[in-house]
Amino acid sequence: MSIVENLQQVQNELPENVTLVAVSKTKPAEAIQELYDAGQIEFGENKVQELVSKYEFLPKDIKWHLIGHLQKNKVKYITEFVYLIHSVDNLDLLKEINKQAAKCSRIIPCLLQIKIAEEDSKFGMYAELAEEIISNYKSDYPNVEIVGLMGMSTFTEDENQIRSEFKYLKSVFDKLRTQNSELKTLSMGMSGDFKIAIEEGSTMVRVGSSIFGERNYH
Ligand SMILES: *Cc1c(COP(=O)(O)O)cnc(C)c1O
Repeated sequence: MSIVENLQQVQNELPENVTLVAVSKTKPAEAIQELYDAGQIEFGENKVQELVSKYEFLPKDIKWHLIGHLQKNKVKYITEFVYLIHSVDNLDLLKEINKQAAKCSRIIPCLLQIKIAEEDSKFGMYAELAEEIISNYKSDYPNVEIVGLMGMSTFTEDENQIRSEFKYLKSVFDKLRTQNSELKTLSMGMSGDFKIAIEEGSTMVRVGSSIFGERNYH
């Protein structure tokens, strides 16, 4: 199947209220252009340098999502154009995004990444910190807007574990939403687990290999 057919197949499995971010990391600009020509305009990258070079090369109305771990010193390279940052996992990073966003007179939409997996390798903050940040950030950081939460489940075959991690994230999302109506986006679900994520209340899935094929890192 072609990548356009893969895209259509994934899209057919998504309810109308769920946004698809096509994760194009490691894939060439030509592949992104092909999907763009087929109507996909939201793409996700996890590395700043790769995101910037693709941004420069590709149509300017693409909505670029930064989904990977973001280092403070790299924020400035993406603030002018990034559409949504999924991976805010500490307050210092939010401060830096606010500072750089102010320089280009933007209010940048962000998701707080919550740690839901049991592996140490997955980034994210605890729900308690997210709650504290969300209830306090507005006056100090007017150039960021926290619009939701993101989480990555444990890499496991155990569907029950994945489901319970997503359930937990949804419960945190619902709780925080009662305090802040601007929280609209719950980014959870990747190629291997987006169907479970949707059943558990995801509003945004980040799908790479099911569309573009497996990635070769080596
Ligand atoms: C790579 C990546 C994805 C997509 O993974 P696939 O399994 O290829 O769908 C989603 N989210 C994040 C944060 C990623 O780094």
